[in-house]
Amino acid sequence: MALAVTHVILTIVILDIFRHYVWGRHKFPRYLLVIGGVAGLFPDIDIPLTWIYKFLTGTGISLHGTFTHSLFFPLLFLIIGAVLHYNKNIKWAGICYIIAFGWFSHLTLDCLYGGYKDFLWPLFVVNFCPQWGIGQHATSIDAIILVAWLVHEEIHNKIKDYM
Ligand SMILES: [Zn+2]
Repeated sequence: MALAVTHVILTIVILDIFRHYVWGRHKFPRYLLVIGGVAGLFPDIDIPLTWIYKFLTGTGISLHGTFTHSLFFPLLFLIIGAVLHYNKNIKWAGICYIIAFGWFSHLTLDCLYGGYKDFLWPLFVVNFCPQWGIGQHATSIDAIILVAWLVHEEIHNKIKDYM
């Protein structure tokens, strides 16, 4: 699995690049970046859920990398967003799309780091992700993403957007 910071920062960076080059600041308010960043980390809610589960049951079973790491959830939010969009509820449709994207980016990143077996929950249990062993470089990857983004923001004189 990728580190928590990677999940948040990479999702925000990708969304911010689209905000900068495609959608524009006014069509893509900053709160959507925050929602995207939180959604980018949200599937790891199964870590505190594991603590609670272990506390309540006294078992050693870990829920991490199970159902919250399924493509089912980003697909669900995509469909809800499409329905809201169809009903002209553009604001909430956008929020659902961003949650779907953040969730999907989490799963993609975890997959690149080696993955889990429940991406296709509840249909199949299979890990089709590449085993490159890049997880051992996790903190370096964090640093590279953060520095590249800071340089990009500084070049475009947009650091003040975050202050
Ligand atoms: Zn994860």
